[in-house]
Amino acid sequence: MKDYSAMLAKQKEFFLSGKTLPYKARKENLGKLLSALKANEDAIIAALHEDLGKSPFESYATEIGIAYGEIRYLMKHLRKLMAKKRVASPITIFKASSYTVSEPMGNTLIFSPWNYPLQLTIVPLAAAIAGGNTAIVKPSRYSKSTSALMARIISETFSEEYIALVEGGHEENTALLELRYDMIFFTGSPNVGRIVAEKAARTLTPCVLELGGKSPVIIDGTLDMDLTARRLMWGKLLNAGQTCVGPDYVLVKKGYEDALISAIRRQSARMYPEPLSSEEYPKIINEKHFDRLCSLIEGSEVALGGASDRASRKIEPTVLYPVKETDPVMQEEIFGPVLPILTYSSLDEAIAFIRKREKPLALYIFSKDKAAIGKVHSSVSFGGGCVNDTVIHLSNPRLPFGGVGASGMGAYHGRRSFESFTRRKSIVNEATWIDLPIRFAPFGNKIRLLRKLM
Ligand code: NAD
Repeated sequence: MKDYSAMLAKQKEFFLSGKTLPYKARKENLGKLLSALKANEDAIIAALHEDLGKSPFESYATEIGIAYGEIRYLMKHLRKLMAKKRVASPITIFKASSYTVSEPMGNTLIFSPWNYPLQLTIVPLAAAIAGGNTAIVKPSRYSKSTSALMARIISETFSEEYIALVEGGHEENTALLELRYDMIFFTGSPNVGRIVAEKAARTLTPCVLELGGKSPVIIDGTLDMDLTARRLMWGKLLNAGQTCVGPDYVLVKKGYEDALISAIRRQSARMYPEPLSSEEYPKIINEKHFDRLCSLIEGSEVALGGASDRASRKIEPTVLYPVKETDPVMQEEIFGPVLPILTYSSLDEAIAFIRKREKPLALYIFSKDKAAIGKVHSSVSFGGGCVNDTVIHLSNPRLPFGGVGASGMGAYHGRRSFESFTRRKSIVNEATWIDLPIRFAPFGNKIRLLRKLM
């Protein structure tokens, strides 16, 4: 195994040289990253197909296009993001100018998962560059073709003392976490997120944790069922359900379950008439996850799909109904094309059901009832979400993306990405042409004036 301590020491030296700081350098490096990705676009599409069976369309829509969009946003707004920001001064220091100055976090570590291996590595990396940091990037061992390709792209584009990509698994993760950084950006499961936060706490290293969990969908039956089912299944079947913000389970108003299941059957068949042999339908990342998902289906009541093919690691779009709160499928994040459906009698009951569990990364509601939507949004804590759609909230770089509680802490995308990889120093620049005597001893009865000022 490589000496990561020496690698980080070189990055510390490089950061202290100041080379990562100038606007021009940051912008050029973002441009280099964008060009390198573009030059390798066909290879990226091939690697994502190799790892996850993604179609070129899906790879572009959910990985490549999003990475390009984020890099372009940061390039376009970089000067403004880096700028000194003036704020007003209170009367007690009325002659001073008050402002904040942006500074990079410094030497950063980025862990990314296997499900969107390109997007979830490149988007935080672009933010690290825009912020003026160095980065050690550690993608997942499971998505090995994309990780190997990114390792080549990064090493051809940047020097290791600036940006380094480490391939590998547990041994590398553990060794990297033993070192001291200025910031850790982690995307992955809540369980590993906890390990990262504990390690970071020992050195008081700030971390952003982008985690997962069970994201619910509420369907109250007021919206057209085919439109609902189409958008629901689009989000569920993206990357064959291996999406952190994918709809995990549905709570449908009692009485509408049959209509929903029929609409899901129709819409799912339109998108993937022959899912197990479809070139466009992604596969499960590995046999461990394939077996885990199959065991969630076994012993459940299957209302749609349920078949799978171990050789190609594909699992049909599967709906489980009826489902009990205590069933295994309701105990863990599903992360596959399996959708349990439960019913509720009143909106209060649906809200209570969600609030009893960990705060979800996403929440979706399909409804035409504005009061119901408002009530859900004001009473349930969750990372982010959509009304009458799924997943698309993360495609807007103007919306911060992140979880809450067990689904994460901190956020990124667009401006928020830059803010997460930098901090602002607060400065008061005091005037020198006058020096008001009130604050200096002796105080005498100056408190009377102070009371008026404060
Ligand atoms: P994971 O937690 O197993 O791994 C994530 C990353 O951490 C990988 O790079 C892995 O190599 C590394 N890692 C694993 N064990 C480690 C350890 N002990 N110490 C340090 N690093 C370690 O997650 P995964 O299986 O790759 O991804 C699936 C999870 O990620 C799901 O829970 C999903 O919801 C979540 N996720 C969240 C987002 C988000 O943006 N919030 C995006 C994608 C995935």
